Amino acid sequence: MGAGRIERLPFAGGKPMAERMLKFVSVAQGQPDKRPAAERSTDFDEIYRSFAVAQAEQQSSRCSQCGVPFCSIHCPLGNNIPDWLKMTAEGRLEEAYALSSATNNFPEICGRICPQDRLCEGNCVIEKGFESVTIGAVERFITDTAFASGWVEPIRPPVERALSIGIVGAGPGGLAAAMQLREQGYQVHVYDRYDRVGGLMVYGIPGFKLEKDIVARRHLYLEESGVKFHLGLGVGDRDEDGQIAFATLRDRHDAVLIATGVYKSRDIGGPGAGLGGIVKALDYLTVSNRLSLGDTVESFENGELNAAGKSVVVIGGGDTAMDCVRTAIRQGAKSVKCLYRRDRANMPGSIREVKNAEEEGVEFVWLAAPEAFRGEGTVSGVRASRMKLGLPDATGRQSVEPVEESSFTLEADLVIKALGFDPEPLPTLWGQPDLAVSRWGTLRVDHETFMTSLPGVFAAGDIVRGASLVVWAIRDGRDAAAQMHRWLKNTAPARAQAAE
Ligand SMILES: Cc1cc2nc3c(=O)[nH]c(=O)nc-3n(C[C@H](O)[C@H](O)[C@H](O)COP(=O)(O)OP(=O)(O)OC[C@H]3O[C@@H](n4cnc5c(N)ncnc54)[C@H](O)[C@@H]3O)c2cc1C
Repeated sequence: MGAGRIERLPFAGGKPMAERMLKFVSVAQGQPDKRPAAERSTDFDEIYRSFAVAQAEQQSSRCSQCGVPFCSIHCPLGNNIPDWLKMTAEGRLEEAYALSSATNNFPEICGRICPQDRLCEGNCVIEKGFESVTIGAVERFITDTAFASGWVEPIRPPVERALSIGIVGAGPGGLAAAMQLREQGYQVHVYDRYDRVGGLMVYGIPGFKLEKDIVARRHLYLEESGVKFHLGLGVGDRDEDGQIAFATLRDRHDAVLIATGVYKSRDIGGPGAGLGGIVKALDYLTVSNRLSLGDTVESFENGELNAAGKSVVVIGGGDTAMDCVRTAIRQGAKSVKCLYRRDRANMPGSIREVKNAEEEGVEFVWLAAPEAFRGEGTVSGVRASRMKLGLPDATGRQSVEPVEESSFTLEADLVIKALGFDPEPLPTLWGQPDLAVSRWGTLRVDHETFMTSLPGVFAAGDIVRGASLVVWAIRDGRDAAAQMHRWLKNTAPARAQAAE
């Protein structure tokens, strides 16, 4: 179906529900077209094309409008999915956009990168055999159409308040909170040590899942809405060039939100772990994303973080590992293998992404874990042993144990460690010993008020939850913003009144 061809379904408007919706019995599930593997694995553009209008309307009409919408229940944002599917099926796209954006600050981003197979689509009640509604693709279509049609208006708060908020972190958690607080008329300042807005959406997640201009469009929107960004400015323990002390930030603002995410890479030890050519996943992905944005990066130019012509081994089985293997393919690696200690059924990454990776030429080595790294100065191989699944542990997840005398070696001149992330030690880094953390190092917040142990300082997103998802960061950012508004109204009523 050509992108420019606009077709409307004949039933749009005025017909009984059964004629407008419930089409899953006669209309097959249709995903947006996926670019062929040979074409897409040479560039960093998104791999799925957009729905055309008629496709979006037709796919939306497959919704059964069930009485208890499990898609909404399993969406962290509680999106009103059946309602905006119905509006889309009826050609009422502007209303669909208004409804979709009422509960989600970035529907066009969630539509692209949420693991829908585990959330909304995975819980669609359409009988097995008919396949779920393609909710993510419709969600993305609605807001992309809204931007293209000029329906996305910058925030114009009904009142301007003198009270100001400092937000540390321009990832989805911080940005969602910024939007919500701006809507209430606060003067919102976002600080980030990076030079661009978006957090992991810009420097972690590769363009083939989320193109960079989609995030840049939101940056512009927020600026037009009056949010002030202070980029290239890290928060630390003292004021110096390129850094602002956390204490200064607290003096400057009436309330502060910490939304700094988790960035300390989990490491791997063993013989040879210090060899050259063994790199951290986020260093590797950040450089690749910078190149996509047009930057020149020394560690790519000198070959250090460049997979071209190399035998690459990625260690890990989560979304970060999937992004690394697929990036290495696009950089022209000689071979790309993913080493994971559990099997396909027990990996944390999205099955959809594994399938995409396999199509693009990645080889998965399941039930295998590294023992040692070989090489003289620089890595030349990974010695691994076979693993077997044992009994479930307290969490219900099957344990893994090595199979005796099962070692084998994989050739490798670039090894990428993608084993997950922990929080940086903020109380130490920021000179705030009273900032309470959990035993995992995440910030402790009151689960009702989102306030940390420091009065007027709130926290949201991965820094509270641990490494999670964009949709959860948005949810936390929204909830924290609502609590900050409540707290400010209660503690600074005089200033709030005077400013209104
Ligand atoms: C490689 C990768 C792929 C992923 N893929 C997906 C996916 O497909 N789908 C999905 O839903 N989720 C995915 N995630 C997870 C998702 O990106 C995160 O859960 C989400 O971005 C967390 O949002 P956040 O706002 O809490 O933090 P972040 O997005 O990490 O943003 C935090 C921001 O705080 C800034 N910051 C940190 N410390 C300071 C400081 N001291 N001073 C100033 N600024 C600071 C950082 O520079 C950053 O911009 C992925 C994560 C990774 C690493």
